Amino acid sequence: MPTPLCFLGGRFIPLEEAKVGVMTHALHYGTAVFEGIRANWNEEEGTANIFRLREHYQRFLSGCQLLKMKLPYSIDDLCRITLELVEKCDYRQDSYIRPLAFKSAQRVANLKLQDLEDDFLVFMIPFGAYLDVNAAARCCTSSWRRIDDTMIPPRFKISGLYVNSVLAKTEATLSGFDEAIMLNTDGHVSEGTGENIFLVKGGKLVTPPASDNILEGITRNTVMEIAHRELGIATVERSVDRSELYTADECFLTGTAAHLTPVGEIDHRPIGDGKMGATTRQLQDLYFDAIRGKKAAYRHWCSAVSLKPVKA
Ligand code: PMP
Repeated sequence: MPTPLCFLGGRFIPLEEAKVGVMTHALHYGTAVFEGIRANWNEEEGTANIFRLREHYQRFLSGCQLLKMKLPYSIDDLCRITLELVEKCDYRQDSYIRPLAFKSAQRVANLKLQDLEDDFLVFMIPFGAYLDVNAAARCCTSSWRRIDDTMIPPRFKISGLYVNSVLAKTEATLSGFDEAIMLNTDGHVSEGTGENIFLVKGGKLVTPPASDNILEGITRNTVMEIAHRELGIATVERSVDRSELYTADECFLTGTAAHLTPVGEIDHRPIGDGKMGATTRQLQDLYFDAIRGKKAAYRHWCSAVSLKPVKA
């Protein structure tokens, strides 16, 4: 039987026993940094493939630097702990790994980052689809604007920042949509609440640049590389107007949780024929092979953990 575990305070403990105190600084002020990493199950090989593990921890550590966190772990330690977690948890299905670095000091009425202790935890859970990758998502433009770099930098996964995404996702889903697309404070398209956005236009991919307050997604980078290498399709990183979304040939979202999800409709206007587009489908197929370690050219992106066969 798989064992839900959490690495906290320097050791692996049962997930249900992993707790923090009510005065934890991060709980009150959102002073934490997280990552979302997937371990993709490859049934034929009996491997859990952790996708682009090191890149996730590079982004994680940049966020920690912003919040003046000092973890007692190097990037190699973090990767090693995560590999051990995947092996110990033994999930033979797609799963999601959640590392969190947080201001663990039991101190409230204190808004300084300095002189506050930090802690690190990581756990994993079985996790299938976040959005339906086969159906084309129905999206709306959010009335909530993407927060600007001068407020809380969206280029890091800072816990407090995600209230912005949570408000937009809540509004969209309560209104019957699958996902919200946020504009930045200039009115340009930024991203989804937990995904980057791409348009297919005239045989090219177009996606907003880092300067439009996006999180520079690892899936975004993966798709750009696969599109270029496998299909000879270039990606143009430039500001995108809201009205351009409506006239795109195709549109899709990318993210660790969302994978590569086609968008069929934005603000009640169909994109293309309202179904998954041909380029989106080609990219999605290539992407799914890459993340499960099924394509030699991209195996270096997968840290494969071999799980021992279950005894009959
Ligand atoms: N934007 C936001 C706001 C996100 O939370 C995520 C998910 N991490 C992404 C984009 C996609 O990033 P990635 O592909 O690295 O998961």
